[in-house]
Amino acid sequence: MKNVQPKGSHFIDGAYVEDTAGREIPCVYAATGETVATLHAATPAVVDQALASAARAQKEWAALAPVARGRVLSRAAAILRERNEELSELESIDTGKPIQETLVADAASGAEALEYYGGLTATLTGETVPLGGDFVYTIREPLGVCLGIGAWNYPTQIACWKAAPALACGNAMVFKPSEVTPLCALKLAEIFIEAGAPAGLFNVVNGYGDAAASMVTDSRVAKVSLTGSVPTGQKVYAAAAEGMRHVTMELGGKSPLIIFEDADIENAVSAAINANFYSTGQICSNGTRVFVHEAIVDEFTERLLERTRKAIIGDPLDPETQIGPMITDTQRQKVLEYIEIGKAEGAELLLGGHAPEGAGYYIEPTVFGNVTDEMRIAREEIFGPVLSILTFGDEAEVVARANDTEFGLAAGLFTKDFTRAHRVVAQLQAGTCWINEYNLTPVEAPFGGVKMSGVGRENARAAIEHYSQVKSVYVAMGDVAAAF
Ligand code: NDP
Repeated sequence: MKNVQPKGSHFIDGAYVEDTAGREIPCVYAATGETVATLHAATPAVVDQALASAARAQKEWAALAPVARGRVLSRAAAILRERNEELSELESIDTGKPIQETLVADAASGAEALEYYGGLTATLTGETVPLGGDFVYTIREPLGVCLGIGAWNYPTQIACWKAAPALACGNAMVFKPSEVTPLCALKLAEIFIEAGAPAGLFNVVNGYGDAAASMVTDSRVAKVSLTGSVPTGQKVYAAAAEGMRHVTMELGGKSPLIIFEDADIENAVSAAINANFYSTGQICSNGTRVFVHEAIVDEFTERLLERTRKAIIGDPLDPETQIGPMITDTQRQKVLEYIEIGKAEGAELLLGGHAPEGAGYYIEPTVFGNVTDEMRIAREEIFGPVLSILTFGDEAEVVARANDTEFGLAAGLFTKDFTRAHRVVAQLQAGTCWINEYNLTPVEAPFGGVKMSGVGRENARAAIEHYSQVKSVYVAMGDVAAAF
């Protein structure tokens, strides 16, 4: 295994920083269980240094011409693309995701976000509002220092999806990666410096949840953007409210994927595979409740099982590997428990369900049939490669059942009837819907949840609203009228 030990546990004010007084953070390669790097969690002194340097850098950054800020983001994107291979390998080591995925979905997606917002930076203007003589103009201002808190499934992508719009609007960011994937965001911080960003503009503080929690309530933090679970989201949202801070909450889901009787079966099976087994099922928007019309459920299931049996499970760094390990043994145990719950609840285990012998946190892609709405495997976010097939008879029924969940992150449907597609989409309670596709999240499209799946939107122009505020300036052109 190549040496991935970073030069320091944190990246602050343009340089690696170490403080060995912090609790150890072992970085484990999920395919073998081997510790590949050891970092130290941020101490209060490190947190203070990061926030102070970000506050300084933000002022310098906001004073630059927007086009100059955009140029830095574009350069950072170009560096990510140049180093895609090396960054993808690091992402695979950090997360255990197969290299065939990381080569196309991580640094590449991060680069797209930086390209998009790099281009948008110089277009973020206010407006003039005529009032018949007097007028108002508006200024779109940055919020200040934004705190990004990341999950472990997409460490590079999450850091870029948060940093790109934040920096485009003139903010600085302090980013706290998940403790189980501490490596990738450090590289992004190095790249921003190389691209010409001022020292401190994007700082990375590694640590456990408590390090992030201490920053959420710090008076220097103006906004918090979290990607993670609903319970953590509830805690962070509540803590941020104390200081009336802006928030974006990108949380979990239990999204429906509806396959109508006229669907193209091969495409629907491809989507179900992508919606459940990509990244070993560790994706927030996954379509884990697959509702299949009763007329085609046998044909759909047969093709799904046939194709899933061929999945290549193996070493994430082998280009042939299609399914890597889970992120940690704890996460694997959680998924195995859900598989036992599914069996005990009466769902039919059609495929997988086991952890293969040997090292690494592997688990077989798992398919349950005869799943019903009230089963826990159909209600709770499992966050692993477990697909549930539910059957339905008609459209109104499936819409009601698809919406019968506390979550609302995403939804997908397959049909050749376009009138039906749009009619159903209009009724689905979800932030993102796909018609005859699943899980594509281009930076040009807003992404985020409704109901318990979160607040705010990432990506697209929509994210600008969540990283800036509007100041109204009233300009009088005549005398001031007063009663006396
Ligand atoms: P969490 O939601 O617990 O953690 C997300 C991030 O928040 C991590 O960086 C975490 O730090 C940090 N954090 C934890 N507690 C606090 C706090 N009180 N204040 C501020 N920040 C905090 O996700 P986990 O990684 O623990 O995974 C648990 C479950 O969450 C998974 O099983 C899965 O169901 C779901 N999940 C959902 C994701 C999604 O995209 N929807 C992504 C990842 C997980 P640290 O990791 O150091 O504790």
